[in-house]
Amino acid sequence: MSDTLLLNACGNPISSFPVSTIRWQRAVKLHFLNKVDILESYQDWQINSPSFSMHVPATVITRDYYRPKHNVCFNRYNLALRDEFKCQYCGEQYRYDNLTIDHVIPRSQGGVTVWTNCVIACKRCNIAKGSKLLAPRRKPEQPDYYRMAALRSRFPFSVRHSSWLDYLPNGVLNETVSVRV
Ligand SMILES: [Zn+2]
Repeated sequence: MSDTLLLNACGNPISSFPVSTIRWQRAVKLHFLNKVDILESYQDWQINSPSFSMHVPATVITRDYYRPKHNVCFNRYNLALRDEFKCQYCGEQYRYDNLTIDHVIPRSQGGVTVWTNCVIACKRCNIAKGSKLLAPRRKPEQPDYYRMAALRSRFPFSVRHSSWLDYLPNGVLNETVSVRV
């Protein structure tokens, strides 16, 4: 997750899985190109150069409207969310830190890293499984955007700046929630 939340002209993030964030350097550049407006900045984070000084943008909004991206990128967080943070072998729910990507058909047997061949698993089950073939509890499927959006409302995740909370329901400005999206 980068420092600056990128909102579409309509006020929603351009993408949600992952949330559209950009590096602050790019946000500053887009600002000077008049492509985005700055909605909020980090008050405790200032950048200085010989010609200007400004606070780092926390949330920016595009001037033009872009078609929202409803795809769900394959990554460990999205896989954990699809599987509701439950190990697909023992069925227990775990903290994100304790979950790993498991290949149902192991990579050593030609299994590929795609939604339909991967499930989330606790470290213990993943090690115990090794290169064996075991059926997970639920057949892995490509996740649907709307189902993922519904799941997100059940699992809090941390955000970088309080202004993000206006656009990301269920975000938490709290470092004890370790999942960043
Ligand atoms: Zn397990």
